[in-house]
Amino acid sequence: MVTPFTSRQTKTNVGRMSQDSGAGAGDNQCNKTKILCERCSSVILLPNKATYVKKEIFLPHMKKKSESQAPEDGETLEDFWVVDDMFTFENVGFSNTVNGIKYLICADCEIGPVGFHDTSDLKAFYIAQSRVKLD
Ligand SMILES: [Zn+2]
Repeated sequence: MVTPFTSRQTKTNVGRMSQDSGAGAGDNQCNKTKILCERCSSVILLPNKATYVKKEIFLPHMKKKSESQAPEDGETLEDFWVVDDMFTFENVGFSNTVNGIKYLICADCEIGPVGFHDTSDLKAFYIAQSRVKLD
């Protein structure tokens, strides 16, 4: 497929946002190893698929999908992996949507939220570093 209007000048992967070096991020700010579900080790992202970004986001505490919880019961997290396409994920599911935020859960064990997607920004899917583990 030819995409004439896209010109890739360099092969270096320079982050679009200003970023600090996150845990597990290589020099190019990508994840060096697989990103796995903390609970069941299901693969969420393959190496070099996500970019580290620092962003303050409130997420509800992790629970099984079936358990009920108050939406204000959670914590503010700062370190995320971001990808620009839902299909970049190996394994991820969507939980409920609250105020335009879709929560991402593990597709296998349904623990979550492990991240979120802001429905007003179609090109950003975030995984919280503290809620996943690296291979
Ligand atoms: Zn899991």
